Amino acid sequence: MIEVNDLTKAYGDTVVLDGLNFAVDSGEIFAVVGPSGAGKSTLAQCINLLERPTSGSVVVNGEDLTRLSYKQLRVARRRIGTVFQSSSLLSRRTAAENIALPLEYLGVTKGEAERRVRELLDRVGLTDRANAYPFQLSGGQRQRVGIARALALRPSVLLSDEATSGLDPQSTSSVVALLRELRDDLNLAIVFITHEMNTVLEIADSVARLDRGSIVESGRLVDLLTDH
Ligand code: ADP
Ligand code: ADP
Repeated sequence: MIEVNDLTKAYGDTVVLDGLNFAVDSGEIFAVVGPSGAGKSTLAQCINLLERPTSGSVVVNGEDLTRLSYKQLRVARRRIGTVFQSSSLLSRRTAAENIALPLEYLGVTKGEAERRVRELLDRVGLTDRANAYPFQLSGGQRQRVGIARALALRPSVLLSDEATSGLDPQSTSSVVALLRELRDDLNLAIVFITHEMNTVLEIADSVARLDRGSIVESGRLVDLLTDH
């Protein structure tokens, strides 16, 4: 599971995140929704440890990741897989080769990497597209490759940073269905950051609404829906 405690991020005098608190259990999809400028990408970068918070902590499976040295951070980062908007795949690599990247960096043997890539392709339903290049895939398929790549190092937390933004409704639904399946089958804690309220309604167990750096409303999706 992942816990965000009193998370604050400021650039000089500009406070971008102002004391955020939430926890996401294994087997739960937690959506963070907010308009442009709310602080969503800054939150994503604090969660996947690309940015250091100004204060507060990000705790994964009981370990405070904000207190680690750079060397420890390289290992700790494997616990969090990230899927980005339009997936950022390498265009000269096939689907299978893109998924293999994190395993290569880690120095996993070729045979073991091939076995894992096959398993991941199967998990995201793209076994028959293994040798396709990104330009030969649909937007939804590219995002599924991005998800498989994010899972390569077996994280316990999956961070989705606008992963369905820009997809057509049908592709969005297929990505949503896959994330829900992964939540259940791998017992992942999923943090789903988006500006799209429609997608939140499809995917989330719990929701926080972020506005100008603060959580202005949060709770179980069913409770929030029946309140209004
Ligand atoms: P969102 O992803 O919700 O659009 P961001 O996290 O990108 O929001 O930005 C939130 C606010 O923080 C914006 O007002 C933005 O201008 C400001 N901001 C983001 N990064 C920086 C930075 N490096 N320096 C100063 N201000 C920043
Ligand atoms: P095992 O411990 O025998 O690998 P699990 O039930 O933990 O069994 O996992 C089932 C399959 O899913 C395994 O093949 C494993 O590689 C894969 N798997 C488990 N957890 C993750 C994860 N967080 N990310 C990606 N793959 C995973």
